Amino acid sequence: MTLAAIDTRYVYDFAEEPPGGRELLGGKGLGLSEMTRLGLPVPRGFTVTTDACRAYLEADVFPEGLDQELGAALQRLERATGTRFGSSDRPLLVSVRSGAAISMPGMMDSILDLGLSDAVAEGMSKATGNAQFAFDSYRRLIQMYGEVVEGIDADRFEEALSTLKRERGVTEDTELDGGDLRELVARYKRIYRDALGHEFPQDAGVQLRAAIEAVFRSWQNSRAQTYRRLNDIPEWIGTAVNVVQMVFGNAGPRSASGVAFSRDPASGSREPHGEFLVDAQGEDVVAGIRAPQPLEQLEEELPAAYAELRKAMNALERRYRDVQDVEFTIEQGALFILQTRSAKRTAAAALRAAIDMVDEGLISREEAVLRIDPSMLEHVLHPMIDARASVTVAATGVPASPGAAVGAVVFTADEAVRRSAEEPVILVRFDTTPDDIHGLAAAQGVLTAHGGMASHAAVVARGMGKPCVAGCDALQIDEATGTCTLGSFIVHEGDQITIDGSAGRAILGAASLVVPDSNPDLDTVLSWADTFRTLGVRANADTPADAERARAFGAEGIGLVRTEHMFFGDERLPVVQEMILAEDEVARRAALDRLLPFQQADFEGIFDVMRGLPVTIRLLDPPLHEFLPSEGEATSERMKDRIRSLRETNPMLGTRGCRLGLQWPEIYEMQLRAIARAAIAVADRTGKPPRVEIMHPLVAYAEELHRLHDLTERVMNEEAPGLAHLCGTMIELPRAALRAADIAAYADFFSFGTNDLTQTALGMSRDDAEGKFLTSYLNLGVVGHDPFATLDQNGVGELVELGTSRGRSVKPELEVGICGEHGGDPASIGFCHHAGLDYVSCSPFRVPVARLAAAQAALAERGTKYEVAGG
Ligand code: PEP
Ligand code: MG
Repeated sequence: MTLAAIDTRYVYDFAEEPPGGRELLGGKGLGLSEMTRLGLPVPRGFTVTTDACRAYLEADVFPEGLDQELGAALQRLERATGTRFGSSDRPLLVSVRSGAAISMPGMMDSILDLGLSDAVAEGMSKATGNAQFAFDSYRRLIQMYGEVVEGIDADRFEEALSTLKRERGVTEDTELDGGDLRELVARYKRIYRDALGHEFPQDAGVQLRAAIEAVFRSWQNSRAQTYRRLNDIPEWIGTAVNVVQMVFGNAGPRSASGVAFSRDPASGSREPHGEFLVDAQGEDVVAGIRAPQPLEQLEEELPAAYAELRKAMNALERRYRDVQDVEFTIEQGALFILQTRSAKRTAAAALRAAIDMVDEGLISREEAVLRIDPSMLEHVLHPMIDARASVTVAATGVPASPGAAVGAVVFTADEAVRRSAEEPVILVRFDTTPDDIHGLAAAQGVLTAHGGMASHAAVVARGMGKPCVAGCDALQIDEATGTCTLGSFIVHEGDQITIDGSAGRAILGAASLVVPDSNPDLDTVLSWADTFRTLGVRANADTPADAERARAFGAEGIGLVRTEHMFFGDERLPVVQEMILAEDEVARRAALDRLLPFQQADFEGIFDVMRGLPVTIRLLDPPLHEFLPSEGEATSERMKDRIRSLRETNPMLGTRGCRLGLQWPEIYEMQLRAIARAAIAVADRTGKPPRVEIMHPLVAYAEELHRLHDLTERVMNEEAPGLAHLCGTMIELPRAALRAADIAAYADFFSFGTNDLTQTALGMSRDDAEGKFLTSYLNLGVVGHDPFATLDQNGVGELVELGTSRGRSVKPELEVGICGEHGGDPASIGFCHHAGLDYVSCSPFRVPVARLAAAQAALAERGTKYEVAGG
């Protein structure tokens, strides 16, 4: 084979060693290939690569050579299985299943039972002696093919099925006999012909080709697009398509389909979890056609298959060293594994499983730390119902995703989106499908009547870290009247309910929730993370209570105390206004003297909590007009005049930060005195001086800091001679980053204020960008991330690197941190690690996230890798 031919190969058998990984084969394809080569019971088949999908989506036709490769792969499959595609004698039936490199559960389409036709169904019915099975499979094919390839409305098929069941006086699909299903096939074919004007294709080759094209196209359906946007999955990667020999979970009472997790995906405990349906195809379990049975019952019903499943899950956990989510089918007692992937799990389960796997010797502590998604950590300490509250439990269900949530009842995803703009909502549905993804994203939590741990609602809710109660039998929804019955209660749309996804309870009204402030597993993993990270983690905190929380979450100091809130409050604001309205410096100082004790008390409170850890206090930043009412509300002519004189066209770029401090030095002087006096008071009281870092905002010129540095040192010397302290600056203007070497001459430290640095480097005001043009930039793909949430590494990041290196070029010991919002964003934290910063500072709640992300960055640099299974 020539090199060119290797380059353009689009199809790989599961049994062969592929030349690429998940990017080429998709997660599902790679898993099937690896499981086949591990010797696990996997149906045979082949994968059409993501290269082929991308080429198809670009040109709208199959790339050259794909048809020939498909033909050859089919022949190999026929030879290996002793069957023939499209033949009524020993027919080969296949499924066509999507599978991208990154798992997108249920977002794209799959089609089962391809290869059936009138003749093949008859042949299969005769050969198996089971007409019910043959025609049930055929009617499923017509429906799925009709929906996915031709876009026929699913309801038309569902209605025909319901009508037939009514005519036959049965309630379950499985009660229809072979004759009934033959009749159903005829009705389905009529629906197909009526909708499209041509017959359902009888040629297996035509079916297969159209199915592959449709699955490629399903990459671009709107729910997949939404899912990618919500999960930061690139648009261009495309999906692979797996063509898999059919195995039949619907071949009678010794057949079944199910999903199994090797450990509990909600709690992480070591017991396998899952559900299955006897005599059903896999899609039935996920779609919740009938209530599935819990996995434990499989041990009683089909013990040999169950034992083999446990064995296979153990082998898969050993291979992937992670919790697996396995799809399986049992055909006449024989187990087949159709798919394995790393299980989506709650943050609590992720921590529990990682710790257990370290104990079991399956993974190292480094891997345990790498495995936890930092952004999930915020969900570990999820709200719970206050144990002291008395609640009315209306109904119970499966505790499918932990945490509690309160909201107004909505019955549709669209209504969830609409109403969530006004108030928190709980999505209440019979079940959810991938079409409801936007509603799940908008809701606080979800309650379903149907399904269990593996239902769509449960899987998505766990992924989003939201509570879910599934399979709530006592829930009946009547969308027409906008009500539901929940046990013996009637609940209207808009009524408040509470769901408790940890205990599986649906509760009337808004229960009071509490947020626990610790989790032992979180503490364990973070204590491991702390041993790997080199980046310090501080918190942005303005009050003793915030500081307390920051310490509880493990902050090693405060990287930003914003002092402006200390100017508000009923007692203070009038004095602040008096200060601003003062006619001369004497009057201004008199007002400032009255403010000083308030500020001093605030600083003492924070120093007390931080007990000798660094506290970086930023002097006043916002323009003075922020402390005055609007002109119409002014209470005197003088106030009106002052409001007019302080008015600026663009206050963001106006008299803010150190510009204010240089124009009205008395203000900074007062703040410095308050800091110094608070430090002395705390040192006297506790015997330990606080570590004070005084920070000047919005410096552009070295000369600004030069003057403010002199002011700082003069006041500190007057008030607290001998008190060790640092004097530094925020770097939040591009000029400051560029001139960092000059500025460092007067600075003991730099702290990058990347909120303002992003605004000024990009020339975007955050408030005018977010929700407006920036949102459309994100939708259009002009930018990949919101630069105010995730640092624009190429642009703003370069200023950070430049400022750091220029500053340290004249002062190697210069302490450098970051205190913009980016300090709590995992990707930005990785960047800060690589840029050589000393610490990140973020909101107290994000401190655990930052500790973990900092450790992951350090481990990534050491080359510790972690492989994820499946897709
Ligand atoms: C910043 O600009 O990044 C910063 C932390 O300051 P503020 O958000 O208060 O302007
Ligand atoms: Mg700022």
